[in-house]
Amino acid sequence: MNQQNLYQPPLVPHGGHQLPPLPYPYHALEPVISSDALRIHHDMHHKSYVNGLNRAELELFEARHARNFEMVKHWSRELAFNGSGHILHSIFWTVMAPGGANQPGPLTMNQIGHYFGGLTALMEQFSQAAIKVEASGWAVLAWHPAWGRLEILTVEKHQNLTQWGGIPILVLDVWEHAYYLDYQNRREDFVRAWWQLVNWDEVENRLRLASGARLPLTMEGK
Ligand code: MN
Repeated sequence: MNQQNLYQPPLVPHGGHQLPPLPYPYHALEPVISSDALRIHHDMHHKSYVNGLNRAELELFEARHARNFEMVKHWSRELAFNGSGHILHSIFWTVMAPGGANQPGPLTMNQIGHYFGGLTALMEQFSQAAIKVEASGWAVLAWHPAWGRLEILTVEKHQNLTQWGGIPILVLDVWEHAYYLDYQNRREDFVRAWWQLVNWDEVENRLRLASGARLPLTMEGK
C-alpha cells in the first residue's frame, strides 16, 4: 500500500474550526440558564475560543516552519487554552437538553453504580468536584481508555495543561528526574539523544489504534 492510501484527511483542517450551533433555542434552558446568559456564553465566549484556536493554529504553522520557536511556545499556550475551551464548551452544549433528559441509560448507570455507588452518590461527588475547583474551571466525568472506566476530574482554567480528547501517541518525560543524573541541567542534550530510543513500531501501533477513534464535536448526523 503506498503512503497516499494511508492518508485520511482531518475532520477539521488547522485554522478551520467553526462555532457549532446550539442544538436548541437560547431560551430552551430557562429558568436554569437564562436566554441572555446562554446567548452571551455561546455567541461571545465560545466564539472567542474558536477564533483564538484558529489563530493559534495558523500562527503555530507559520512559526514552526520559520523555526521561530519562541513564538511556538507562546502560540502553544494559546492553542492549549483556546482549543480546550472550544472542546469543553462544544461538549457542554450537547450534554444539556431542555428540561433535562430522564435518567442515565443502562451503560452509564452500570458504570456509575460499580464505581461511584449509584446515581445519587455520583451527583454529590461531581457537584463537590465542581464546587471546589479553584478559580475558573470545570468538573469532568471522563471515560479513561486506559482504565476502561469512568473518573471524575477537575480542571483549572480549560487546559491546565492539556487539550481534552487527545490520546497520547508518543511521550517524553522532561521532569528533571528523567535526565538529571545523566545530563544535569542539559535537558536539550537529553532530548536530542532521546530520539535514538524511540520505538517507532509502537508509535505506529498506538496511532493505528487511536486513529480509529473519530468523535465529531457537533450533533450533526446523530
Ligand atoms: Mn464557558
